[in-house]
Amino acid sequence: MKSAKPEEISVSFKERLRETGALLEGHFQLSSGLHAPRYFQCARFLQHPAQAEWACRELAKNIEEPVDVVLGPALGGMIAAYELGRALGVRALFTERLGENMTLRRGFEIARGERVLVVEDVVTTGLSAREAAECVRAAGGEIAAFASLIDRSGGKVAFGVPFYALLTVEEEALGPECCPLCTLGITLDKPGSRKVSMK
Ligand SMILES: [Zn+2]
Repeated sequence: MKSAKPEEISVSFKERLRETGALLEGHFQLSSGLHAPRYFQCARFLQHPAQAEWACRELAKNIEEPVDVVLGPALGGMIAAYELGRALGVRALFTERLGENMTLRRGFEIARGERVLVVEDVVTTGLSAREAAECVRAAGGEIAAFASLIDRSGGKVAFGVPFYALLTVEEEALGPECCPLCTLGITLDKPGSRKVSMK
């Protein structure tokens, strides 16, 4: 049986993101204040367990490093970590923010030397993933690799260990002063501050 090529999986994933309303196209103000023609709301994709299971199974196929534990920073990384843990047959933990600090709570333990895969739903700068990795190291674990369903950095984010993404997209965000969509007078959506209006 011929297995699908990575590009075919990316195309299929993008199509599924569109179908589930997780990939919105139009004119959006991101949390950074920049404007972009695309907005990812990965939770809308992950609300479908069968879709989440499919995506994480495909992502798991690419991972070459031995992994003992999968860990995702809450909330974004929780579902991806859980499904990736299922796909890899290992346990799935999450870190959470307590005030400013990312912490490992709820009785979760990482044994010394355990190899941990840190996963996010969407990586832009990789800050949350890095903070989660610090928790892993503080607990005595080793970082085997990072993974994300969507890499919005266009492949520019660097973790110093292998990083796997199911879909890599270029960030097309621009300041309002040089946004062509503003010039065209297209209505601006602010998905972070209120409900996204759907066509
Ligand atoms: Zn604009």
